[in-house]
Amino acid sequence: MDIQRAMVKKNIVILGAGFGGIACAMKLEKLFQKKRALFKDFAIALIDKRNYHLYTPALYDVATTAVDDASPLNIKKAVATPTEEIIEHSRIKFVQGHVVGANITEKKILFSDETALHYEYLVLALGSEMAHFGIPGVKEHSISLKWLDDAIHIRATIRRKYEEKAHDSQLSMVVGGGGPTGVEFAAELLGYIRKLNLKSGRAVRPIITVVEGAPTILPGFDAWTTRTATKRLTALGIFLKTGCLVSRADEKAVFIKSSSDTVTEEQLPYDVFIWSGGVQAVNIFSAGQVAQEKRGKMETDAYMTCLSPDKHLDVARNIFAIGDNACFYDPRTHRSPAATARLAIEQGKVAAENVFRDILGSPRKVFKIWRYPYVIPIGGKYAVGKIGPFKIEGLLAWVFHELVELYYLWSITNDNWKALKRWWRGLEIFSKND
Ligand SMILES: Cc1cc2nc3c(=O)[nH]c(=O)nc-3n(C[C@H](O)[C@H](O)[C@H](O)COP(=O)(O)OP(=O)(O)OC[C@H]3O[C@@H](n4cnc5c(N)ncnc54)[C@H](O)[C@@H]3O)c2cc1C
Repeated sequence: MDIQRAMVKKNIVILGAGFGGIACAMKLEKLFQKKRALFKDFAIALIDKRNYHLYTPALYDVATTAVDDASPLNIKKAVATPTEEIIEHSRIKFVQGHVVGANITEKKILFSDETALHYEYLVLALGSEMAHFGIPGVKEHSISLKWLDDAIHIRATIRRKYEEKAHDSQLSMVVGGGGPTGVEFAAELLGYIRKLNLKSGRAVRPIITVVEGAPTILPGFDAWTTRTATKRLTALGIFLKTGCLVSRADEKAVFIKSSSDTVTEEQLPYDVFIWSGGVQAVNIFSAGQVAQEKRGKMETDAYMTCLSPDKHLDVARNIFAIGDNACFYDPRTHRSPAATARLAIEQGKVAAENVFRDILGSPRKVFKIWRYPYVIPIGGKYAVGKIGPFKIEGLLAWVFHELVELYYLWSITNDNWKALKRWWRGLEIFSKND
């Protein structure tokens, strides 16, 4: 790893080349272009254990695509953009490495190969990983949809289980977690099995059950969205077990209990058990280095700066956390907003601005939270979403969802043609699914 040679200047180190990390690095570079002299003293380093940036909203498509030309390589090209391609015309240095820890006193981050990198400013954008909450058997028997390999693994597992089934038998799939990932995924699963049936001439019946602990699916979303999504899933024939918690799982069944009756256990037999019940932050700090909430997210102030566990110390002033890594309390609700790609991007930009302002000695910028538009695809060419006060549903919402992806690809590559090609490749593969 060519870390030390690249980093003889003062380093602004951004950990993670996901939505937040990329936005932060690109914004910082743009700001530095206004004061080019800064490049003499500072280097912008973007670190990730993977060499590509993943468009996660298309992952459920990857996990359920049935078309013949969707080899893992074709799929990867459709949803993953090489990090080097994104930063191609910039002065950002990309370093591929697995970060395992940090030494705040010596201002160093530590890699799995025992090398270290000194930082002047550190931005934590390492995202999150699946949380199983210690529920017996869930980790061992479920598959999670978090990264590209997971999606490809799910697709292969379902295919294998399908092939094992008799001509007109049923294939049972339990999805643990009725948040956006669980809801989108359950609806796509249905389309996947239908496509497999069409191709093979068989009549395997998909039995899909979504288990959600909250009283409704999509907890945290407004009542209209929840209602519309519930109607859609029910119309598709998907079973919803809301107000139910997964209590344990074994190799054949998922066991659930109602939140109001914690004694009686119901058994849901499964062929495939997908877990999308929650995430926790990827955390490289040991206890006591920076303030953290219970799921390992770094607590931040309104400047996206990490807080010191001891309020009298100021050890974290040069450390920022964004996206799934950050716990920022919305001053209006006193709650941490739902982790989304848009939130990570906006927080990344504010962190970049504040590093820049610190260097110039200007006052820091406050992160303000907006009601970001959202759209949730629910099987076929159908989605439900909200843009400001406007509710959208059906094909129009699905088209909006696709256009959001195109806009995002364009914004990170800054190359219309490349963005269009990548977007079209995805559309070609995945829309055959819908
Ligand atoms: C299946 C799925 C679908 C989703 N759909 C949507 C959607 O439709 N809309 C939406 O807004 N949000 C969606 N999300 C949520 C969204 O992906 C996250 O909120 C967003 O990615 C957070 O951005 P981030 O920058 O904090 O982290 P990430 O984008 O996850 O980036 C983290 C980066 O850190 C790297 N990394 C992790 N650990 C290490 C380490 N130890 N060393 C080095 N590098 C490391 C990873 O490789 C990764 O590149 C979805 C998530 C999933 C899993």
